[in-house]
Amino acid sequence: MKAFTYVQRAQRVVFGAGRYTTLAQEAAALGMRRALLVSTPSQAARVEQAVALLGASHVAGVFDGAVMHVPVEVVASARAQLDAAAADGLIALGGGSTVGLAKALALQTGLPILAVPSTYAGSEMTPVYGITRDGVKTTGQSARVLPRTVIYDAELTYGLPAALSVTSAFNAMAHAAEALYAADANPVTSLMAEEGIRALASAIPALARGAATDAAAVQARSDALYGAWLSGATLGAVGMALHHKLCHTLGGSFNLPHAEAHTVILPHALAYNASEAPEAMARIARAIGADDAPLGLYRLAREHGAPTSLRQLGLSESDLDRVCELALRNQYPNPRALQAEALRGLLRRAHAGEPPR
Ligand code: NAD
Repeated sequence: MKAFTYVQRAQRVVFGAGRYTTLAQEAAALGMRRALLVSTPSQAARVEQAVALLGASHVAGVFDGAVMHVPVEVVASARAQLDAAAADGLIALGGGSTVGLAKALALQTGLPILAVPSTYAGSEMTPVYGITRDGVKTTGQSARVLPRTVIYDAELTYGLPAALSVTSAFNAMAHAAEALYAADANPVTSLMAEEGIRALASAIPALARGAATDAAAVQARSDALYGAWLSGATLGAVGMALHHKLCHTLGGSFNLPHAEAHTVILPHALAYNASEAPEAMARIARAIGADDAPLGLYRLAREHGAPTSLRQLGLSESDLDRVCELALRNQYPNPRALQAEALRGLLRRAHAGEPPR
C-alpha cells in the first residue's frame, strides 16, 4: 500500500429515524444553554418542534433567512440577532445553505454548531465555508466551522420534494466519485466513497417516488442520508477536481441550481476523466451496479426524472465558451489534463443532454 495522510475529524454523529427527539440532550452535551436556531421557511414545522424539544428558555432566537451561497448581508443580520440574544450555540436545521450560514457565524464567533441536515449536500461533514460578497464567493477551511454534532434523521427529509431528493443524492454521489480519483485519495476515503455511492444509488428509485412513507421509502431515505454522510466526509477530506470546478462555475457565475447542475455534469465529468482513472470508474460502476460508470449515472438520472441537460436548467448555448474559459482558469489537480477543445465537447454534450462519452 502506498503512503498516505488521513485526517480524523472529531465529530459526534447521531443516526436514525426519530433521533431528532434527542436534540435537547445533544445541545446540552455541547454546553448550549441558549441556542440560535438557523433555518429557512421550509423548515418551519421542524423549527417549531425544535423549540418544543429544547424548551423556549433554551432558545435564544430563530433566524430563518438562510439562502444559497451565504451572502455577507444575511450573515450580518443573523450575527446581529445572535449578539442581541447572547446565544451560546448554533443549531442548523436544513440543507447546505442553512449549514453554510451557521458555519459563517461559527467562523466569526467560535460558537459550536449542532447540525440537523435535511438534504444530502453533505456540508455538515466538512470544515469548508463560503461567504459571498458583491457576487463573489470566497471559500476557506477552518476547524471552527466543522459541526461538533450531527443528527441524521430521515424523518427530516420526508418533506424534500422528489425531484430535489434525487438531484441532491446525485450532488452527494459527485463528492464521492471525485474523491475516488482525487490526487490525495487514500484507502479510507475510497472505502467511504464507494459505500456512499452504493447507498445513494440504491435509494434513488424510492426517492423518486416522492411523498411515500411506506417502509421501503423510509429505508431509502435513511440509506440516502447514510450515503450523504460518507460522501460529505470524503468531500471534506480530499481534493475535488473538474466536476466540482464546473459546478462551482455554473452555480457561482451563471446562477444554475446547485444539485441539478451536479446531476447534469457528473456523468460527463467522469467520462472526461475515465481513461486516466480506471480504478475509480470500476468502483463507481460496481457501486451503482452498472457496466460503465458515466453511462450508468446518466441512465440513473434519466430514468428517475432528473435533468440531463444544461439547457433544461436554463443555460444558454452562447454561455458555453465562457464556462469553459472559467473552468480552465487556475489549474488544479485533475486525472486528465484540462484541454480547451475536449472540455468544450464535454460542455456541448452536457448542454444538449447527450449521453456522456
Ligand atoms: P439548500 O440548502 O439551498 O436547499 C434547497 C431548497 O430546499 C431550499 O429552498 C430549502 O429551504 C429546501 N429544503 C431543504 N431541506 C428541505 C426539506 N427537507 N423539505 C423541504 N424543503 C427543503 O440546498 P442544498 O443543495 O442542500 O445545499 C446547497 C448549498 O450548500 C450550496 O450553496 C453549496 O455550495 C453548499 N454546500 C457547501 C458544502 C461545504 O462543504 N461547505 C458542501 C455541500 C454544499
